[in-house]
Amino acid sequence: MSQNPFLSQAPIEGIKQIIVVGSGKGGVGKSTTSVNLACALKQKGLKVGLLDADIYGPSLPRMMGAINQHPQVDEEKKIIPLVRLGIKLMSLGFLVEEGSSVVWRGPMIFKALDQFLRDVKWGELDYLIIDLPPGTGDVPLTIAQKVPVSGAIIVTTPQNISLVDAKKAMDMFNQINVPLLGVVENMSSFTPPGAAEPLQLFPKGDLDKFLVDQKILKMIEIPFNPAVGLCSEAGIPIVESNPEGLEAKAFTGLAEKVCSHF
Ligand code: ADP
Repeated sequence: MSQNPFLSQAPIEGIKQIIVVGSGKGGVGKSTTSVNLACALKQKGLKVGLLDADIYGPSLPRMMGAINQHPQVDEEKKIIPLVRLGIKLMSLGFLVEEGSSVVWRGPMIFKALDQFLRDVKWGELDYLIIDLPPGTGDVPLTIAQKVPVSGAIIVTTPQNISLVDAKKAMDMFNQINVPLLGVVENMSSFTPPGAAEPLQLFPKGDLDKFLVDQKILKMIEIPFNPAVGLCSEAGIPIVESNPEGLEAKAFTGLAEKVCSHF
């Protein structure tokens, strides 16, 4: 008889809630959402950690202004996470040079994630936000097997081509018993400077209908704004650099929705 793999789950001492942020596809704004959600939770006075589990394209060091930095290891061989903008941060990107590729096989992924979860001195955290790689591969499965994940957020863009893959990610979380908190629709619209009305940047697909049918919460819509990307490149997420803007307010709303679940 095969053993239930989720029996090996164990909480991480000191961490109250673990939230994973996933997507069906790359490039839809999953990492942008992760960093801004972390910043918005911190702005609410909560203790927050951010783990970059996007092992194939770790972008959190850049987005959090921590490129070429390396975490220290203490005498107990525990990794001390970097702290940026008041958030504890760990990423594979701290262990490899930016731009170099890492070829990961299943057991290596398993080991690296284990280290990130268990050998990092996270301390007391209200929330650990985990930025997953896109898709439905080994990483989300491994994380769900190792630690009790409180909830998942799926990021997608409005068009059907993105929805098809987002559905697969939602289905995966369902199968591995991770509660889906809801969906973030990124790049939902774009208002060019001086324009009175927003433009539909991508064709509206069936996302809204699907979410209503499935009784899944659309947590927020984030407009497209080049400033979001510029702030990420500069290492200060938009929630920190322009907290009064529409996009920052959307992310603050996301933090509120997350908190209202727990
Ligand atoms: P993913 O993690 O899904 O691969 P990223 O968060 O890295 O996606 O975003 C992909 C690109 O799109 C980045 O250059 C990012 O700055 C940009 N981006 C994401 N969301 C927005 C937005 N709302 N407005 C403008 N640019 C955005």
